[in-house]
Amino acid sequence: MKYVFSPEAQSTLPIRGTDELFPVNRVYCIGRNYAAHAIEMGHDPDKEPPFFFQKNPDNLLPEGKDFPYPPMTSDVHHEIELAVALKSGGSNLSAGDALDCVFGYAVSLDMTRRDLQGQMKKMGRPWEIGKAFEHSAPCSALVPASDIGHPSEGEIWLKINGATQQEGDLNQLIWKIPEMISYLSDYFSLHPGDVILTGTPAGVGPVEKGDNLHGHIAGVGDLHVKVV
Ligand code: MN
Repeated sequence: MKYVFSPEAQSTLPIRGTDELFPVNRVYCIGRNYAAHAIEMGHDPDKEPPFFFQKNPDNLLPEGKDFPYPPMTSDVHHEIELAVALKSGGSNLSAGDALDCVFGYAVSLDMTRRDLQGQMKKMGRPWEIGKAFEHSAPCSALVPASDIGHPSEGEIWLKINGATQQEGDLNQLIWKIPEMISYLSDYFSLHPGDVILTGTPAGVGPVEKGDNLHGHIAGVGDLHVKVV
């Protein structure tokens, strides 16, 4: 079988401690999954079931690369998030079985054109132009769960130029990792290579060209990204 033109390269993430690559299938993102962030965005965290949007696999920006300030916006926000990478999938998974699907974890950023997202929210339109743009998901190397286990508590923070902007703890996740995998699998068929960004703690805000972002998640690692 021949393609009519060469297909785009498979999106991948490096894996810490090996030279093997993790091939990325889909990228799901959960919204408003820390109470303090839901409140800062004007929502009641007690009343909402989880909701998801997607980024494109090629939106991932592997560590070591700069984040180019995107076009058509003047208000790009950082959202530090724990990323969960799946090695297997399925439909209608129970929360009890969900962690068996997890390959590993990474430190990621859900970069957001907040001005465009806000316009789309007001108009009842989809969020893609606010969320799913090029390089919108900077991500560290994956760390295998076989090395670190499954983090359920520990600090998650983001500093810009050394000053803390976001701070939280994984134990503040409203929908826990097994619950969000189970919930997603009721709506979508999950596959090996799927990546889930699990939501951001409070303190989101704008970035500027020249900023140095430093994200950290206890037990998972660090992510350094420069805005250019
Ligand atoms: Mn987010």
